[in-house]
Amino acid sequence: VFEDVKAAPADVIFALTTICDADTFDKKINLGVGAYRTEEGKPYVLPVVKKADHILVDDKNLDHEYLPILGQKAFRKESAKLILGASSKALAEDRVGAIQCISGTGALYAGAHFLSKHYPIKGAACYISTPTYANHRPLLEGVGLPVLEYPYWNPATKGLDLEGMLNAMQSAANGSIFLLHACAHNPTGVDPTPDQWRQIADVMEAKSHFTFFDCAYQGFASGNLDKDAYAVRYFVERGLELFVAQSYSKNFGLYSERAGNLTVVAKTPEIKDRIESQIAKAQRAVISNPPAYGSRIVSTVLTDKKLYSEWEQNLSTMANRIIHMRKVLFDELTRLETPGKWSHIVDQIGMFSFTGLTTPQVKVLKEKYHIYLLDNGRISVAGLNSKNVMYFAQAVDDVVRN
Ligand code: PLP
Repeated sequence: VFEDVKAAPADVIFALTTICDADTFDKKINLGVGAYRTEEGKPYVLPVVKKADHILVDDKNLDHEYLPILGQKAFRKESAKLILGASSKALAEDRVGAIQCISGTGALYAGAHFLSKHYPIKGAACYISTPTYANHRPLLEGVGLPVLEYPYWNPATKGLDLEGMLNAMQSAANGSIFLLHACAHNPTGVDPTPDQWRQIADVMEAKSHFTFFDCAYQGFASGNLDKDAYAVRYFVERGLELFVAQSYSKNFGLYSERAGNLTVVAKTPEIKDRIESQIAKAQRAVISNPPAYGSRIVSTVLTDKKLYSEWEQNLSTMANRIIHMRKVLFDELTRLETPGKWSHIVDQIGMFSFTGLTTPQVKVLKEKYHIYLLDNGRISVAGLNSKNVMYFAQAVDDVVRN
């Protein structure tokens, strides 16, 4: 029956990990995957997650019944509060919906699928940044949304191309959909400043564009959960309706548990209920009910003041180690007098650095040095530690010079 089926290409990031895992060279480094690593290069189970684990194991009332289609109530409520802030006017006005999804990807999918069916402007395009997270385009195209791009990265300044971004927003058809990274932009590590967000919101509002925020790194950009929610809260304060896809993969280290949420800020409570009902209907047909475990860990922490502050400490441990690695890398490239300007390494934020290394340079890093990173030069700074950062800097110095 399936003789004519062609093999699909492997996912680039996961394929990189498979190649790195099979590499027996002792100094190999995996800088591809966006997952936090400790100073020992190991996965990190957050201490607060371990505590929540124990609480759940000891809870005699827990069972394995289905969750409601929209997910666990406390998880949904706390997720919306986490991103919008406890004092959000939209929350007080009861016009915020929340749908527990299969992590950030599932939340993006649920939002995009809803937009593909119910967005009032038929054929409206969804704009994504150039560059962006590799899964955005296939996910959006998968639900049938036309995908266009807006400039984001300025290679000359190794910073934000604000002018290009605003121009694209201005010239897009009224009522287009814009997928914006809420913080710690993947892959560039470059976020707009508050004043730049104001300019972006001005155009979004004037052109009646719809904002879909992707928030996969709350707490990872600055180490502060409220600060990292700035853009979303600012847009909501301005009265904009929007969606936010939230992931707990990175900030809770719950990668495999697939805990995520779609927060929906609607115009009225009644519209919010209708949107939730449509997403529930669609979710029932695709996953039926979301998984419980990750959401229980998250809601256990978010509903307990003491655990919440421990989580904040765990987040700063991760964020600070990454910031420190950026500095060590920058200092070493400076000491080596590696040609070029490297200040973007310390200026960029979050888990990733868009190094500016070219695809041919990346090829040499892989083949000669067994260092694995994306062809576009993105590295996960979390993959660096005090034992391998000098080796990495030496290798970069070599490929840049030769
Ligand atoms: N959005 C962005 C920008 C990401 O970087 C990621 C994961 O790397 C996701 C969404 C998806 O996250 P999750 O693993 O929670 O599905």
